[in-house]
Amino acid sequence: MGARHYASPKPQLGRGFLDNGLFISLVNPAIALTLAMAFLALWLYRRDRPHLVLIAMAYTGSAVGFLLQYFTLPIGLPATKLFSNLGFMVASLGIAATVIRQCGRQVPWFGMGLFVVGGLAGFSWFIFVEPDITLRVLLLNFSIGGISLVVAAELRVIRDKTPIQKVMLALAVLSGMNFLVRPVVSVALNGPFTGYENLYSSLYWTTALFSHAILSLMIALCLFTVEALDLTATLRSESLTDPLSGLLNRRGFETKASKLLDSCISSGLPVSLVVADLDRFKSLNDRHGHAAGDKVIIEFATRLRDAAGSRAVAARIGGEEFAVLLPMADPAAARLFAEAVRTVFSGNAIAGLPLDVRVTGSFGISSHSGGESLDDMLHRADEALYHAKKSGRDGVRVSYQRLPEAVASDPAAWVA
Ligand code: GH3
Ligand code: MG
Ligand code: MG
Repeated sequence: MGARHYASPKPQLGRGFLDNGLFISLVNPAIALTLAMAFLALWLYRRDRPHLVLIAMAYTGSAVGFLLQYFTLPIGLPATKLFSNLGFMVASLGIAATVIRQCGRQVPWFGMGLFVVGGLAGFSWFIFVEPDITLRVLLLNFSIGGISLVVAAELRVIRDKTPIQKVMLALAVLSGMNFLVRPVVSVALNGPFTGYENLYSSLYWTTALFSHAILSLMIALCLFTVEALDLTATLRSESLTDPLSGLLNRRGFETKASKLLDSCISSGLPVSLVVADLDRFKSLNDRHGHAAGDKVIIEFATRLRDAAGSRAVAARIGGEEFAVLLPMADPAAARLFAEAVRTVFSGNAIAGLPLDVRVTGSFGISSHSGGESLDDMLHRADEALYHAKKSGRDGVRVSYQRLPEAVASDPAAWVA
């Protein structure tokens, strides 16, 4: 192996320093530092994801671990090796914790901590007390292999794994085998290590460098993919959400309500649409200011969301206009819903506004009938809302679907 030339514990800055072996040995630190910088750069754009710093720290730990295999610090060889392995532990722990968290599981710090403490304690024993290079190499590998298997065990119990979670599980198992089986096989084939020179020129070390480089890249690629998928999901959800009220926006409403409507129609369940428009909102803005108007919108959205629950689709579809698609609701149930929201909203003061300010809303309802689309329902609910406005506001009106000929002759007959 090329590493043989500088594989002695002390760095050889003279003869043969810039040989092939050095370049090969620098591959892992270079990869690890590049990945650390990439994750750090990603974090600068996504400060809301602090685990990106943890990943960067983990890869830095890995780089330091490898560098200290080749360059001995003034603190002496044993202490340098201990720091090197501390770097490897930080790397394993950081990556393991991130993967587990990204998959939505609690990090088993205690279990993983046992492997770290056990590994480092054993390592220290076999370097400071009873020096044995083979045993400390094996111990270290076993503790990192143990951490990998903890990750695998955590990922295994996840039901309905996403493709990326399946890949991560496979990588965790692969990593476990790499740290548990490969060292044992190498030692069995080539016998125990007699010293560092022997270690660095062994099959064990060559395969360690190679497998570490490949595994690091594969894991990093997975972690980057998870970030990319998460970013896509966040952007998609933001594009469907109204930032002021936190409800869906019109686009979000059309997307989600169409799906809900289809599923209600296919399972034969009644479904109703409630639209609401705040009364005389322009004059409220004029009297109390735009910021007060915004508070009213937030308050109304909160009432609507609380009343709608998780199965309904609630949205702010315009400035002071809202819509809720209620599954399993016939006209009577939808009217009850709207009346409840109307009375609670108009009967209570609004947070941040003078106590005597009361705002009301008008409501229009349409229940699904025949082969109607969401647009048809919106159209009818808007008409009912218009009637509620015309009859003095602060009220609820229901549009009753009638036979087409009856409607054609008397459109007002739609609304009760
Ligand atoms: P009506 O009872 O007939 O519904 O009267 P209105 O004044 O509520 O209706 P109109 O459609 O004339 O005015 C709606 C107002 O809502 C106009 C606009 O300034 C205000 N508005 C729209 N979006 C926002 C918003 O995000 N914040 C605030 N504060 N006001 C908004
Ligand atoms: Mg309006
Ligand atoms: Mg209005």
